[in-house]
Amino acid sequence: MTAEWEIALDRIEKGELNKTQFINDIQQYTTEITNELLSLHIPQENTPQLKCPKCQQHNLIIKDKIVKCTDEQCNWILFRIICVVQLSIKDFTLLLTQNKTSLIKNMKSKNGKKFDAYLALDDKLNLIFKFC
Ligand SMILES: [Zn+2]
Repeated sequence: MTAEWEIALDRIEKGELNKTQFINDIQQYTTEITNELLSLHIPQENTPQLKCPKCQQHNLIIKDKIVKCTDEQCNWILFRIICVVQLSIKDFTLLLTQNKTSLIKNMKSKNGKKFDAYLALDDKLNLIFKFC
């Protein structure tokens, strides 16, 4: 496009092209680009829109290692890696909607022992293990 603009500027200098027309063209062009960018769909892992369990107003940002409230005042955060296992989005959704995940397997306790458990949130929104 820059090359075209240079040609156009050249033509304006020579009086072949109307300056206003040229500016209008550029404006139209930038509007098109902006619209294109705005409508661009950025593919993501199928992330559901989940509400923060603490403030219950704002949506959560789901990242690889953490899940976080979008509101800085609320600042609720949960680590997705629990005893070396990354909580899947599906389980995370279950945690927030039903307060219980599916059985998470092969978690590792501090003494290195593997165990399976369900995860839930207690009254203070801390993560707890449930064994049935
Ligand atoms: Zn929140």
